[in-house]
This record gives sequence, structure tokens and C-alpha cells, in this order.
Amino acid sequence: MSGIKSTTNLWTAKKWPYRPRPRPNELLTSYLIRIANGLEIKPISFLNAAWGSRQSLLDQDLDNYAPNHVIALLGKGVGVEPDAVHAMTLFEFEGRLNETHIPIGRKAWIMPTTVASNNRKRPGMQFCPTCLARDERPYLRRTWRMAFMTCCIQHGCLLRDRCPYCDQPLHPHLSPSLRHCFRCGRDISKTVDNEKPRFEMIEQQRRFETALEQGWAMLNHRPIYSHLYFCVIRRIAAMFVNGLRAKPFREAVVNQLGGDDSEFEKPTKRQPIEYLGVADRYRLFDLVERTMEDFPHRFVSACRKARLSRSHLIKDMPYVPFVYDEVAKEYLDERPYFPSEAEVMAAAAWLRRTQGRATFRDLKMICGESRAAIYQHMDYERNPATPSRWRVRAFDR
Ligand SMILES: [Zn+2]
Ligand SMILES: [Zn+2]
Repeated sequence: MSGIKSTTNLWTAKKWPYRPRPRPNELLTSYLIRIANGLEIKPISFLNAAWGSRQSLLDQDLDNYAPNHVIALLGKGVGVEPDAVHAMTLFEFEGRLNETHIPIGRKAWIMPTTVASNNRKRPGMQFCPTCLARDERPYLRRTWRMAFMTCCIQHGCLLRDRCPYCDQPLHPHLSPSLRHCFRCGRDISKTVDNEKPRFEMIEQQRRFETALEQGWAMLNHRPIYSHLYFCVIRRIAAMFVNGLRAKPFREAVVNQLGGDDSEFEKPTKRQPIEYLGVADRYRLFDLVERTMEDFPHRFVSACRKARLSRSHLIKDMPYVPFVYDEVAKEYLDERPYFPSEAEVMAAAAWLRRTQGRATFRDLKMICGESRAAIYQHMDYERNPATPSRWRVRAFDR
């Protein structure tokens, strides 16, 4: 391959001899690897030769963010409009999955596939074995990079994220084909397990995919934008994994609704759900499915059992959708209620009518802790040597 670097012009001057059509929902890196395989060049050598990159382009997450020069040259080489190349990246989901697209860095729902020193440690690339087995030319789907994907609605089977024979994560750029393991060389699409997802999990998966496609979803019988829907689902999923209340929350759901309440793998104190392997995420979204059925009733009941209050429900959320906060406020807000001054005044008037006067004791019984207002509207006061700070404050206003 040493000669290729000096012939960069070959790549820019004319269309490339192998120009496959992008497949529906195909990931950009899958397409690049298929071109390289068709040209009988290693994907890394192909990228280095065409783009003359000193640092391998695969060190970046090209599916998440492809630089313009990569898009422009690829489009020219295969004779496809730059827009069509751009559409193979995850940028396409901007606004529907997250409110805004963050080109670099960790993103909600997108699983990381860092290729540091060609060593993909986390299994961030999932696949449906049946999809790969049935593809005439196997390719990787964009949606397989999303953390809410755990099964294939087309084939009713579980997704995988490791070779079923040697347990290695996928390194498609090092594999002989997108259907073969880079390490042991065996066909990863061969079915070796008979475990099937629950019917309700397939239905939930369909709801997630439809929300991503349409840009909206139903929550509490109301339509909301899909990025808000995904924001709520992600927070509820995280409540099963992180925090002191995660265990009681899992137990509350499992005791009442079934599922598996064992601990999730947590190498650090806070484990983003995108870092969990597919088996753990299946178990997690199984809990989410059981909880979200009949929303908000089962959810509220489990939160109460686990002593989760509104502040837990909305923690770390970039924005709190109204339809969700409404549930949190109505059922799970633990803040004491402070009657307004008008309410205290009305209570004092009622006491005068019924008892002749409005005492501090009676007003406090009715109005609780609204002391500042009570001091303004009560009729009787003991005469302490030092007036209370509430009394002073009430008349200073
Ligand atoms: Zn499939
Ligand atoms: Zn293998």
C-alpha cells in the first residue's frame, strides 16, 4: 500500500471504479468500508490514500460528524450528491433525537465507538444477525448506533454487540466483510441463540423508532415533540441505573410488575446508559416498558414506593418537558404548600366570623407555615419582651 499515498490525485481526478449505492438507513462508515472492500483495499489504507490523512479518520466518529472535505470527495468519487452523503451521518436525526446536534463529544442516545489505537473497547456498534444474514450485501444501519435499540422489529430478534463465538466487539474496518468477525473470522450473522424479546418490548421498540421518524410521540395521552419524549425516557431509564434510589426503584417495579432487578454494570459512579452493553440495555428498557405502560399511574406508584420525589425525577435533565413536570408536580412534589397572603386573609376573616377573632394558633392550624402572612392578619398576640422576627418582618414591608 506504500505507493498509494503518492497517488492522491487518482482519488480526486475522477470517479472511483467501485461505486455501490448507499443502502437505506446505511451508516457512513459502513458505506466507506463497503467501498474499500469493493476496491480490495483495507479501509484504513483507503481513507489515508483518498484523504491523505496523517491521523486515521477512523479515530474520529465519522458517523456523528463528517468533515466537509470527507463528504465532498466521497460524493465526487462515487457520483452522489453531498446531501446524500451527509444523510448517512447521524446529523440527520438533529432535532428529533436531541434538541440540537453536538458535532464532537458525548451525545445523549448515541453510543460511543472510539477507535483509539484501532482498539474499540466498548461495544458501541450493534447489529441484527438476521438483517446481516439476509442482506444481499451486508451493511450497518444508522439506528444500530442508538442506545434505545435493543431488538429488531423486522425480525423479532435481539440485537447483538459482540461476536457470538469469541465475544469481541465489532471492528468492521478490520473485518474481511461486514458479516465476519475481525478476530476469529467467523460469520457473526449465524444465529446461535433462541432467546426472543418480549412482545411488549418489540412494541416499545416500534414506538421509539416511529417517534424518531415522525418527530413526535404520545405521552400521557398528549402528543409531544420526539426530542422531549426521548429526554423523558432517558431520565426514567437513568433512574434505574444511577443514584441511591436506583435499587429501591428497580425493586418497586419488579415486585409489582416483574422484570429483573439486578444491579447494572457500573465501572464509575454514574454510568451513562449509552455505555451499557446490549444485554444490560435490553433488561433496562424492559423495566422502562413495564413502568411506562399506563403512564403515569404505574410510574407514580413505583416512584412513591422508592421515595423518589420530583427533584429526583427532573435531575440532570437539560430541559423538563411540561407534560412530565406536570406529573412530577401533581403526584411527587414533596415541597410543603404555603398558602398565599389572600388565603391567610380569607382564613382570618372566617375565624372572626365563626370564633370572634383570628388567633395565631388557629391560623397556623389552617395555613401551616405561612408565618409572614399570619402575623399580618392575626388579631391576638402574646406580648413578648422581644417581638418575633416574623412580626418585625411582617410590618417592615
Ligand atoms: Zn433484523
Ligand atoms: Zn469472533
